Amino acid sequence: MGSPPRRAVPPPGVFLADERAVAVSIVLAARMRLSWLGAAGLARVVARGGRLAGLIATGGHFMAAAGATRLGPVSRRFELFSVHRPLPELVAALNRYRPAVLLGYGSVIALLAAEQAAGRLRIDPVLVEPAGESLSAGEHGRIAAAFPDALIRAPYGGTECTFLSDGCAEGWYHVNTDWAVLEPVDAGHRPTPPGEYSHTVLLSNLANRVQPILRYDLGDSVLMRPGPCPCGDLRPALRVQGRAADVLTFPGADGGQVSVAPLALATLADRTPGVEQYQVVQSGPAALQVRLRPAAGADPETVWQAVRDGLTGLLAAQGLAHVTVERAAEPPRQSAGGKYRTVIPLTAGPVPAARP
Ligand SMILES: [Zn+2]
Repeated sequence: MGSPPRRAVPPPGVFLADERAVAVSIVLAARMRLSWLGAAGLARVVARGGRLAGLIATGGHFMAAAGATRLGPVSRRFELFSVHRPLPELVAALNRYRPAVLLGYGSVIALLAAEQAAGRLRIDPVLVEPAGESLSAGEHGRIAAAFPDALIRAPYGGTECTFLSDGCAEGWYHVNTDWAVLEPVDAGHRPTPPGEYSHTVLLSNLANRVQPILRYDLGDSVLMRPGPCPCGDLRPALRVQGRAADVLTFPGADGGQVSVAPLALATLADRTPGVEQYQVVQSGPAALQVRLRPAAGADPETVWQAVRDGLTGLLAAQGLAHVTVERAAEPPRQSAGGKYRTVIPLTAGPVPAARP
């Protein structure tokens, strides 16, 4: 029986952005938010005090933190909130600040949506921007339900190119092709046609000259929309399925290897009532541990049994009935960058920080 390859943990990437890239980033971010809000939305933001709350990982050298630190002294209406603070403390601070715009990692905003639904968080934002990682449809729905008066929109980008694309009302990301080139490719780096999910995607950032980023492998599986987007935006549109690096690989029962896509595990949590958040950790070649945070009011044991039954069913359907599933003692954990990854494959070392 073969065992899955142990992935080496890459060293952290260091990215430099020059003044021109920063200027492009600021202008495109402003244009994106203006197009989302329109004049009426902008007036509502101003009427609510115009305050922006940025939920970020502080203390590290992450792009969001670096960019916000630059912007901080410039804008008195932008305050940073560390995602490493205990949740009740973060909730209390946001209740005091009452942001009109809430920006942050999708998984952290999903947690805050649960706090809002439970009545502990009491904010009334005009725009909620869950960025930095792709959300499942269920997470998006829960955020929209918790903030019914807010517009929920997100960009798709990363440290390598913060201004890569803007989300639209139809659920697509439109690429800023004046400043970035995005090429969906298969495992051999051959082009993937529109309408099919790619193995990964290559990014070129045309604004940054101090550190040229050319055909950089982002590791995300994306699908380019074959025809024009119904929202009317003429820029190329794509959807993101998640990181190819988050695919779980197990030894098959009859030899060989079986891979499970991260999306299957993310949507399982959406379908299971009472799950506020969960994280699936591959703890051995054929072993999974589940870090579970049940929703307030749900019976933890019932929720765990439903999650375990769902997971074992999903595994059995793929010929992986021999993979063990057990509950971890600890709740879901953040990566160094502050994200909650849904799926953490077996690695040769500590869990690498995901891209901010
Ligand atoms: Zn669109």
